[in-house]
Amino acid sequence: MILPIVAYGDPVLKKKAKEIDKDYPKLTELIENMYETMYGAYGVGLAAPQVGLPIRLFLVDTEPFSEDEDLTDEERAQMKDFKKTFINAQIIEEEGDEWAFNEGCLSIPDVREDVFRQPKIKIQYQDENFETHVEEYDGLIARVIQHEYDHIEGVLFTDKLSSFKKRLIKGKLTNISKGKIKIDYKMRFPAMSRKR
Ligand SMILES: [Zn+2]
Repeated sequence: MILPIVAYGDPVLKKKAKEIDKDYPKLTELIENMYETMYGAYGVGLAAPQVGLPIRLFLVDTEPFSEDEDLTDEERAQMKDFKKTFINAQIIEEEGDEWAFNEGCLSIPDVREDVFRQPKIKIQYQDENFETHVEEYDGLIARVIQHEYDHIEGVLFTDKLSSFKKRLIKGKLTNISKGKIKIDYKMRFPAMSRKR
């Protein structure tokens, strides 16, 4: 089932999300629905707060990047096979010199900006079976994980922009929160839900 994606301005996107355990109700179904929602919107990642749930769960599937002509063959091959569910994730380490990448977000349609992040991460998380893993990632995969991880920490990529850039996109962000935007996937807008 495709879930509506919460738009910029909803307070759930600013909350630090809570850990869950295996008794979380209908978790398997939720994960399935989140994948369906992400694929339906052509995203490479989706975090639970984006479907209105302040819990530490996000998914990543970088397959769409496997057709990106700016990447090397090796990178593209890597992107093709990276699909993973992260539960109760904690980034333990981030290192290296920050690099810029043009990011977007399903909760903030039509806004893309360069965001600076460190290239290497070490992350601890649980998989769908609640087995714990500690893994290291770099490059574009690390980038997507960092973006999704920020969501469960209540941080959006727009929070990381300079105050100048923030001022430039302010009007656009206000329009998104009011639902004044054309999108081809299902969304839930904060200004509209308040009226109900
Ligand atoms: Zn996002």
